[in-house]
Amino acid sequence: MLRRGITYVHEHVLYDASRYSHQREPLYAFEKSVRELRQLYQWGVRNLIDLTPLEFGRNLAYLEAISLASGIRVIPSIGFSQPSEYHNWQEEDFAKRMSRELRESTQGTQIKARVIGEITIAGAQLTDFERSVLGAAVAVSLEKGTPVLCHVNDRRVVRELLTFLQSRKMNFSRCALVGLHFEYDPQWIISLLHTGVFVQFDVVRGDDTPNYMQVIHMLHDIAKAGRQEQVLISMHLQSESQLKESGGVGYGYLLQEFAGRLESNFRVGGKYVEMMLVYNPWRLFKAPK
Ligand SMILES: [Zn+2]
Repeated sequence: MLRRGITYVHEHVLYDASRYSHQREPLYAFEKSVRELRQLYQWGVRNLIDLTPLEFGRNLAYLEAISLASGIRVIPSIGFSQPSEYHNWQEEDFAKRMSRELRESTQGTQIKARVIGEITIAGAQLTDFERSVLGAAVAVSLEKGTPVLCHVNDRRVVRELLTFLQSRKMNFSRCALVGLHFEYDPQWIISLLHTGVFVQFDVVRGDDTPNYMQVIHMLHDIAKAGRQEQVLISMHLQSESQLKESGGVGYGYLLQEFAGRLESNFRVGGKYVEMMLVYNPWRLFKAPK
């Protein structure tokens, strides 16, 4: 599934949540995005996983065009986020939709979803909607080997989430928790990694989150605990103002600034960075047997 090189594992090349929240500024800037991604290509980025849920504007034709124009393989996903759109949907309905998306290209494109996610876990407890989507995701993943990425908004739900996934026999080597960058609790993160699940940290999304030095300290502790093979990092940009040309940090921040700071704070040097950007994504997203 992946080309040899760096992978950004959690991005939203096109993102529009305006139907659900007026506070969220969209990301819909084809030319600016292409210019930035071309630069990333020069720096060795070959893959980008787009985790935009269906309701937030996932658009295969747009992703394919971005891919062709930038040279970076943009890999779409199939994820659900808004229960209001799925009245009366059962677990089987979500499973059918996921399977179809993984099997067939749509919108006249040659690309199709290869990842299940992001599945938004909104609060401190799983809802019926989230259980249905998660149940479907596990069933499809077990059948096809597809990776599953769950976006957690509230730390309190994580144990319940992992217990639910375990009860359905999820293979945790195909599963990642994303959105945990807000937590500065290395021991807790390490306890999650003991289950075998991957954890992905956002490097920077704007002014709000996260404190990159805290992420660096956590990465350090995780490496000391021997769990560095289960860590992923990505920018997670999702609004136009975060692009470089709009005055934001831009996609390149991860490679230009963060990686350098990580290296200068670590004795393990660039190997850890390479592991998180190249080797670990390959292990999570490798083509199923
Ligand atoms: Zn996301």
